[in-house]
Amino acid sequence: MRRMKRTKIIATLGPASNDRAMIARLFEAGADVFRINMSHASHDLMRTLVRSIRSVEEEFRRPIAILVDLQGPKLRVGTFGDGPVDLAEGAEFVLDSDKKPGDATRVHLPHPEILRALRPGHTVLVDDGKVRLRVTEATAKRAVAVVEVAGRISDKKGVSLPDTEIPVAAMTEKDRSDLEAALDAGIDWVALSFVQRPEDVADVKKTARGRAKVLSKIEKPQAIARLEEILEVSDALMVARGDLGVEMPLEKVPGLQKRITRMARRLGKPVVVATQMLESMITAPVPTRAEVSDVATAVFEGADAVMLSAESAAGRYPIEAVATMSRIAAEVESDQVYRAVINGQRTPPEATGADAIAVAARDVAETLDVKAIIAWTASGATGLRIARERPKPPILAITPNVEAARRLAIVWGVHAVVAEDAKNVDDMAERACRIAGTEGFGVPGDRVIIVAGVPFGTPGATNMVRIAFVA
Ligand code: PGA
Ligand code: MN
Repeated sequence: MRRMKRTKIIATLGPASNDRAMIARLFEAGADVFRINMSHASHDLMRTLVRSIRSVEEEFRRPIAILVDLQGPKLRVGTFGDGPVDLAEGAEFVLDSDKKPGDATRVHLPHPEILRALRPGHTVLVDDGKVRLRVTEATAKRAVAVVEVAGRISDKKGVSLPDTEIPVAAMTEKDRSDLEAALDAGIDWVALSFVQRPEDVADVKKTARGRAKVLSKIEKPQAIARLEEILEVSDALMVARGDLGVEMPLEKVPGLQKRITRMARRLGKPVVVATQMLESMITAPVPTRAEVSDVATAVFEGADAVMLSAESAAGRYPIEAVATMSRIAAEVESDQVYRAVINGQRTPPEATGADAIAVAARDVAETLDVKAIIAWTASGATGLRIARERPKPPILAITPNVEAARRLAIVWGVHAVVAEDAKNVDDMAERACRIAGTEGFGVPGDRVIIVAGVPFGTPGATNMVRIAFVA
């Protein structure tokens, strides 16, 4: 089964899509990666979803990536005694360490370390920024604030602190236990929410010990300030526009999206654009023009993947949403200006053998009419470096390693296939040409390029480009 698009689609699972039959239909419609959101899923549900996805994988004989998203240090206010309270502009409102139910003058903030970190002048956003407070006085147990944007607050609403570096680990106790359970279940990617520092990512990597790759969600100004360092230690990034647009002015998000996607592409690490891409499809079978344009923009930026959240998790039209995204991606990628836009954003290769070979493969592909660039790769790294070039022909990554094949499902343009490792170069070339044929990349006699590292099994030894023909 071949996709007619290069940009990958991540579909978040939820009440609208948790059953196996829906997962299969979402996959058929174009979903390459499934996201399990640990803010909502129990360990049992997570394990059930992993089993269902693996069974769909077997049915279609295509590797599928499972992304488990850790909730991270999401802050919330306590509860109120008499239901929601309305805060008027200019009024005073107190966040404190008192567990008593709140009222129109105060509420418990059940995070002592946050109370200690708040300073006069800091902004406190409640409920995705619907209510804005500014701190005027702060002690370790009590922060007095003035209401700048009026609104209603109810029990357990989320709190964002764009000015405050949160002095807590990126992983809460819940995250640690979710991560262990997810690693045990054999997932492929773990996403970390509210990353602030490179050490936050390093912590997850240390726990994962290579069992899953780590994606950093960029949704805080503190992460923007240290983007390059965070990207350096991450395996992938997400432009998490939902929270990013709460913590930073909304009009800054499009520019940040461009900065983040370009930086990730320069380093050759996968980058995902997420949130509200087809928001109106939660309740309608067709998107708005603006939403189509938003997905198209991400595709033109060369994002590896675009993501659906509530559209596929809780909406009325999950299949239509995936199918719509799929059509937009395929159409944009065949638009006459697409190549020029993509090539214009390309950055020079790094001075490594793998990058020199990747550039050479793209050059050959652009000189000759080739049906695929085949990467014979153990870890998947060669596939990533070729994808970094965003070449015109599709990339067929062949690997003996099922984990590597699954992880590549998130990567731009890569169609991964699991095969037994090759005995020698001729065996490899012969089998690569056969697999290109059976996977539908061409008919016998069509030209392909093979990239590999010999001797086999030595990581980082990409050193060969060969022109061959589909068998
Ligand atoms: P979330 O992350 O859906 O887990 O909040 C994505 C975002 O904030 O955009
Ligand atoms: Mn978020």
